[in-house]
Amino acid sequence: MEMRKIGLIGGMSFESSAVYYRMVNEAVRERLGALHSAEVLLHSVDFQKIVDLQKAGCWDDAAQRLSEVARGLKAAGAQCVLICTNTMHLIADQVQASVDVPLINIIDETAARLKAAGSRKPLLLATRYTMEHGFYAERMKSHGIELMVPDANGRTLTHNVIFDELCAGKVLEPSRKALIALIEKAKAEGADAVILGCTEICLILDPAKLPLPGFDSTAIHADAAVEFALGREAASCAA
Ligand code: GLU
Repeated sequence: MEMRKIGLIGGMSFESSAVYYRMVNEAVRERLGALHSAEVLLHSVDFQKIVDLQKAGCWDDAAQRLSEVARGLKAAGAQCVLICTNTMHLIADQVQASVDVPLINIIDETAARLKAAGSRKPLLLATRYTMEHGFYAERMKSHGIELMVPDANGRTLTHNVIFDELCAGKVLEPSRKALIALIEKAKAEGADAVILGCTEICLILDPAKLPLPGFDSTAIHADAAVEFALGREAASCAA
């Protein structure tokens, strides 16, 4: 069997791209045995440049930049592309329109897992962009899933932990406790699951050891890439 090549648009941040790289390779070795590993192309961008565009609200410029990267991966032989961050799915449709290979969408893949598990009211922990811009909630809604998000203080806390700590390589115990407290609060308010909706959150929270069932977007996305590489058709977008 010819394995398809996975194209990773990474570096946002490199802390989570390293996790993707390990996960896709481990999954292929587990599935195929021996010393098999994934065929992967990774273009890791300079994250500060993307952060500057996010802060300035220059989403079209960011879309252009990530579209260039996607085209480069395709030209180098990638047969699918993944944007290795939830936040940048804000411009996923533009990136998909720029290439004729499927973009495996992290929101669609996460929704499919939530639905299969019977979750209807998950709490989303993510960057401010993902929690507040509407693109994530709308796409989840199209799959029949209504999200809960933390209150304003909780959203600020989560956003700051992501950018000031996790993306900077710091995993701090007080922050872990604070995030777990947010999950406890949401549980008391009726949440039935928690989405680790930022690709770095798995560095600080173990999805299997939370007050609610955890859905790790990084693991789900990496797994979808491996499924595609080994033969499944992309669920989200047509090639
Ligand atoms: N990796 C993060 C995410 O999944 C945040 C970094 C970014 O802003 O792209 O949203």
